[in-house]
Amino acid sequence: MTLNHLIPPDSQLQLALIEGTEVEALCGHRFTPTLTVGSSGRADVPGAAWCDACDQTAELRKKYELLAELRTNLRENMNAIEERISLIQIEKSLQKEVTA
Ligand SMILES: [Zn+2]
Repeated sequence: MTLNHLIPPDSQLQLALIEGTEVEALCGHRFTPTLTVGSSGRADVPGAAWCDACDQTAELRKKYELLAELRTNLRENMNAIEERISLIQIEKSLQKEVTA
């Protein structure tokens, strides 16, 4: 059965289309993309079903990217909090010096 597979965004699809070289789908399946794209512009085999393994991998990749983004935000927030804490500590030590 022919399926439509998904390729990673960093795949050189244009080059593969021009040179007729293979690309590797998210599921590991290797194929030569063709220009027979469906109305969505994504399906290599119009009307054929989408590969489940590719779908699941794409979903995992999205979650991973979201987690990476959250981790970056968390790190930025932690840095901001640590900066605020050190400012408070400086303020406190200055107040002690004034009252001493
Ligand atoms: Zn696939």
